[in-house]
Amino acid sequence: MKNGLHFNETLYPGVQVSYECRDILYQERTEHQELVLFENPVFGKVLMLDNITQVTTGDEFIYHEMMAHVPILAHGNAEEVLIIGGGDCGMAEEALKHQGVKRLTQVEIDASVVEFSREHFSEFNAPVFEDGRFDLAIADGARFVRETDRRFDVVMIDSTDPEGPGAVLFTEEFYRGVHRCLKPGGVLVTQNGVPFLQRAELVSSIRHLSKIYKDATAYIAAIPTYFGGHMALGFASDDPNLRKVPLETLKQRFEKAGFETRYYTPEVHQAAFALPKFILDAVEEG
Ligand code: SAM
Repeated sequence: MKNGLHFNETLYPGVQVSYECRDILYQERTEHQELVLFENPVFGKVLMLDNITQVTTGDEFIYHEMMAHVPILAHGNAEEVLIIGGGDCGMAEEALKHQGVKRLTQVEIDASVVEFSREHFSEFNAPVFEDGRFDLAIADGARFVRETDRRFDVVMIDSTDPEGPGAVLFTEEFYRGVHRCLKPGGVLVTQNGVPFLQRAELVSSIRHLSKIYKDATAYIAAIPTYFGGHMALGFASDDPNLRKVPLETLKQRFEKAGFETRYYTPEVHQAAFALPKFILDAVEEG
């Protein structure tokens, strides 16, 4: 919602986060959602879809590094990776840093988010569009996982919140579809909101995941853009060892991967699975 020189994020009942807008860089009513890009003095470029902050140039590295490197390095040999959503292509950029990834498929419902991000977020996503391993499909992610014959080592659900076209990406049926297209030893990670403000969303996702996967938990990262404390990232697989890969193994894999990060370290990876009690309670309730 535009309010003078501010945009207010209206995701959380009872709280609004007001972002100063220095400049509106782009605004469009796409076929699927209301898209606005503006400049904020703290976060840099801010992308909102339907009044909900999606990504900022200031802190995108935290979310994208933690959601891409944790499952890929936990898996240890990921060749086929699938991203559902991920329109800004920051997740794809992190995933493609792993040379072992042979093909990265991204299924995004809204072509205009990708086109727009290619133009406006080239500071972090430019390498994606020059990488022959990047394979983009414009489609509904829920339908894709129901119908595809392909199988993946790592699946990342870089979705919007459970409203509008993203709601389907939080359902049991969708998680079942993802399970169907995971290879043995595969792992799924999900964007599961900020537990302090969106506890019910986390409980519900873990409840669905626990019915389908042998192991379902969450790990955390603190991302200023996703206001309200830690963000929870769901982590599900049929191999309970994947969430507790020894530190030495993570260190060796990360060193071998051979790239720099700004948030991810093997130590942070391991620590991220140690959940504060109120988040652990939500996961255990699920
Ligand atoms: N990092 C952000 C966050 O946590 O708020 C989310 C990234 S955003 C770019 C998520 C993307 O999911 C959007 O581009 C949106 O168009 C896409 N999306 C929503 N519903 C979808 C669906 N059913 N299938 C595929 N992509 C979907």
